[in-house]
Amino acid sequence: MSLKLSGWNDTIVALATPPGIGAIGVIRLSGEKAISIINDLFPSKNLEKQASHTIHVGFLKNGDKILDEVVVSLYKGPRSYTGEDVIEISCHGSPFIHQQVIDTCIEHGARLAKPGEFTQRAFLNGKLDLTQAEAVADLIASNTQASHKTALNNIRGGFSQALKDLREQLIQFSALIELELDFSQEDVEFVDRSRLLELVTNAREHTGRLMQSFQLGNVIKNGVSVAIIGKPNAGKSTLLNALLNEDRAIVSEIPGTTRDTIEEVLNIDGILFRLIDTAGIRNHSDDLIETVGIEKSLQKRKQADVVLYLFDVNEELPGDLSETIDELNREEIHFLLVGNKVDLVDEHSAREKFTYTSGVIFISAKSGLHLEVLKERMVDMVFQKDVSNESVIVTNARHFHALNEVHAALNDVIEGLHNKIPGDLLSLDIRRCLQYLGEITGEITNEDQLDYIFSKFCIGK
Ligand code: GDP
Repeated sequence: MSLKLSGWNDTIVALATPPGIGAIGVIRLSGEKAISIINDLFPSKNLEKQASHTIHVGFLKNGDKILDEVVVSLYKGPRSYTGEDVIEISCHGSPFIHQQVIDTCIEHGARLAKPGEFTQRAFLNGKLDLTQAEAVADLIASNTQASHKTALNNIRGGFSQALKDLREQLIQFSALIELELDFSQEDVEFVDRSRLLELVTNAREHTGRLMQSFQLGNVIKNGVSVAIIGKPNAGKSTLLNALLNEDRAIVSEIPGTTRDTIEEVLNIDGILFRLIDTAGIRNHSDDLIETVGIEKSLQKRKQADVVLYLFDVNEELPGDLSETIDELNREEIHFLLVGNKVDLVDEHSAREKFTYTSGVIFISAKSGLHLEVLKERMVDMVFQKDVSNESVIVTNARHFHALNEVHAALNDVIEGLHNKIPGDLLSLDIRRCLQYLGEITGEITNEDQLDYIFSKFCIGK
């Protein structure tokens, strides 16, 4: 492929499984010399004579020294992940063995791979497009069912196919318009303007929906931040514990978050909810509300995507609640109202008391009553934007920004068509769309951008 950069003929090696002790560890090589390097270390068989997609058991030796008994998987390019010759060595899971095997490969002519270099080669060899390559990184990082599903869909090319179709249609129009320009003296129109308008209008709607899906996509990937607020003794820490007991998520790291603001993560129906400032709840620092007023406390929580305002149904006065709601609305905070301790009264009278306030969820944090209703409403809040028909969800900020540009360019085309601007100007706007669409799928790209994208991968991928 013409994109192939200089310095890409060498053979790279890296550990493909997580570092540390495991049952097995997989070391991967890719490049022209992958097979010959391992053949030199594998006395029991001539690997150069073996067919692609075969596996071989034997000792890996550096001279007389046995490194390990291993399983070698052999893939010949272009039928491999990277499109080059690929060898995967499954060895025993000791970091010492891994290091020895990698060092020996380097000694015999391989080079340690940079982060994401295997996937970068797959992209450069045309095995994946850019959105698919990026989805590989997302898939590895996915920690809920929902994020796993979107990443898998992107790897299969769902997102890029939609964009490619659009791009192809636009290219056709663009070619026809440019043909018109060649015949400009004769005042002909090859391009049916009303069909172009229809296409572009549909495309604008589609990109609009994709852009909307970014919010959801982002949520699926990074989680929704939630703050539980309320007066002292409302039951905040009881609620926190009740939620955590049922749905605590085990997550290693969520991009863009720091440990000191995020303490706990819930996984509800595949959506991650990050409970922020839980230290504050545990230390009762919410007593702040009484001294400096709810406004201050809310400002502190403005960074939350969703606020749960928790109150004790026995203590709270309906008038106070209304004031709090006004405050929340003024601050443009997305909130759920949660009336707690309904186990102490009968639920009916609690509902009566707050009958002028719609949307209150009545629960008992202590007994767990109606907690599932609260969780359902939390999930509903995430999905409130109507993107349910969009099977493709944008999760990547780079794609989102390019889509914004596409959207703006499509707007210009539509405006141009309405104003009957000449073909050459129309053509400029269409090209701008094509440029940004191409940037998303990687048909148009530059080296810096590529380096940046792949540098975010882990080594060995
Ligand atoms: P916080 O100050 O808002 O964190 O409130 P806590 O969670 O510490 O709860 C204050 C008191 O209310 C504790 O004695 C809890 O056991 C009690 N409590 C919390 N939730 C409930 C509930 O749903 N029902 C009852 N009966 N008591 C509750």
